[in-house]
Amino acid sequence: MNEKRGLLIGRMQPVHKGHISVIQETLKEVDELVIGIGSAEKSHTLSNPFTGGERILMLTKALREYNIDPSRYYILPLEDIACNSLWVGHVTMLTPPFCRVYSGNSLVQQLFQEENIPYTQPPLFNRTEYSGTEVRRRMLNNDNWEKLVPNSVIKVLKEINGIQRIQKLNQKEISELV
Ligand code: ATP
Ligand code: MG
Repeated sequence: MNEKRGLLIGRMQPVHKGHISVIQETLKEVDELVIGIGSAEKSHTLSNPFTGGERILMLTKALREYNIDPSRYYILPLEDIACNSLWVGHVTMLTPPFCRVYSGNSLVQQLFQEENIPYTQPPLFNRTEYSGTEVRRRMLNNDNWEKLVPNSVIKVLKEINGIQRIQKLNQKEISELV
């Protein structure tokens, strides 16, 4: 019998404990999970501070920390394209074959549905805290962001000076201050 393979996409700016929970839960339903790092080409902005490669490193280390069998997932970068109507074809060109998409994003759900690929909306875990926006907000304010991400992600963020980067991105240009 064919393996049941699912697709899950997140920008993961940065990887947080909500991502780990949704991956663990989805792996109860599928044999294998394709994990796409969305907007992979974006970096060095306040909403997308980390590069695709840095996010691949965070997720690889985090899934190892949580003892998730590496033979059960594939992590790949997915760059954005300008045309939403062509996006599903772009994604399927880059990913191993999958039979279902796991996403809470209504545009993603709509685009896959129009191509006759079914979707599941996974439950959210502790969404008030486990949210990329909340993690980045706390990073800017030095406000206890560490407990929202796996220890291995804290380590990667230290290695790449991630907190210094996001705080620097938030500084105004000197000419705007006078
Ligand atoms: P941002 O605030 O930057 O948009 P995010 O927390 O929404 O970050 P994304 O990187 O946008 O995370 O990834 C989106 C996908 O990750 C969602 O479609 C959802 O499946 C999953 N996800 C994110 N947070 C959680 C959570 N707390 N519980 C379960 N799934 C989550
Ligand atoms: Mg999001």
